[in-house]
Amino acid sequence: MVMDEYIGREALKQSIIKRLGVRNSQYLTQTEKVLWEEIERAPAVDVQPVMYGEWIEYGEPNEYGDYSAWYWKCSNCGDVGVAGLRFCPSCGARMNDGVYELEAGQ
Ligand SMILES: [Zn+2]
Repeated sequence: MVMDEYIGREALKQSIIKRLGVRNSQYLTQTEKVLWEEIERAPAVDVQPVMYGEWIEYGEPNEYGDYSAWYWKCSNCGDVGVAGLRFCPSCGARMNDGVYELEAGQ
């Protein structure tokens, strides 16, 4: 599956103007104007900025050296999570070191 990548319309337009070395879109050639209009007319889609985080380890082993008291917190929202999850179940941040998907019912 091809994944879409999203770009900012205004940033793209500014980049084009700069690259062509013109002051504004009035100085574009006919072909450039066609492309410019396509950029302006392209439908906007709803996107949210991707949040990133990592699982931060907390806790210490108990007197028996038992590490079960250790837990992990999301660096983005601070909620306790499970190390290895790809996304924080609380805030949705994508975890840099995450490898597992949360299974339904967990
Ligand atoms: Zn989180």
